[in-house]
Amino acid sequence: MNKLKLGWIGLGNMGNPMVKNLLNAGFDVAVYNRTKDKESQSIEAGATSANSPQDLMENCDVVLTMLSDDAAVKEIFEGLSGLLGKEYPGKIIINMSTVSPATSRYLATNCSKREVTFIDAPVSGSVKPAQDGTLVILVGSTAESYQKVKPIFDVLGKISIHVGAAGVASSAKLAINYLLGLNLQGLAETIIFAENNGVSKEDMLSIINEGACGNGITKIKSTSILEDSYPAAFALKHLVKDLGLAKEAGLNTPLIEPLLDSYAAAQYEGLGDEDVMAIIKSLRK
Ligand code: NAP
Repeated sequence: MNKLKLGWIGLGNMGNPMVKNLLNAGFDVAVYNRTKDKESQSIEAGATSANSPQDLMENCDVVLTMLSDDAAVKEIFEGLSGLLGKEYPGKIIINMSTVSPATSRYLATNCSKREVTFIDAPVSGSVKPAQDGTLVILVGSTAESYQKVKPIFDVLGKISIHVGAAGVASSAKLAINYLLGLNLQGLAETIIFAENNGVSKEDMLSIINEGACGNGITKIKSTSILEDSYPAAFALKHLVKDLGLAKEAGLNTPLIEPLLDSYAAAQYEGLGDEDVMAIIKSLRK
């Protein structure tokens, strides 16, 4: 039985399967979600329900957050019954949500004022790797803090990589999501160009995936393109958020502006809650 008692906040597409893996590995997990009925999946898997983020700080050794964006994370840390509402010396908070490097540094400073350890730990990988426990976890913290919580990362991911202090992991996450955005925009444009010139999407996907241009993400997204169905694994609105954060953090390359404009237009057209691959629907118009 694992000894660390864990609290988890944020039971969306990623949070629920990650909690399930921690429970299966023998961790004792208490959960909190703003919308209470989304806790049922984790409770059925063996988690207990907490009334507030502060309850988790009182009763757990480590509290993990997996929330939409910077505003949601700040609300959970700083709201009325927020994580930093009282002094909790010795406790550890791990933020696994994708937020700006500036927000990660800000949270690290505020935590250290209350003698709480903050670990910046965004993930690369989507719902399937979250279910399979094969996420790639990027860690920003001291080396000592990383070692303390590594057993948690060993359950959630196939690898965790300590990249530096808090904030550096958030930068690494924005960098990999820029590449994700480029990949999916390129895949969508390629399929549309091929179709418009008489090549079926089935044939074009085989050409891509059997050749050197195929990769993990082109293979994962092929089914949704073939079925023309885009239920959210990674919601398009979250990529718009991440590209915006990357731009704010100084990404100033020839493609960041058109890429962000393209995904933002898709969100504006109402595709924000569909999967990021729904960019192809926007580009077909
Ligand atoms: P999601 O399904 O949209 O879930 C978002 C979670 O945040 C929900 O639990 C939601 O609570 C909560 N939340 C939002 N605003 C809140 C607020 N103001 N106060 C309290 N709780 C709030 O998102 P997800 O796909 O799980 O992604 C979570 C994070 O992981 C994001 O930062 C995303 O960029 C990152 N990420 C996602 C993927 C992916 O493939 N999905 C992959 C890597 C990283 P309610 O239920 O009450 O709305």
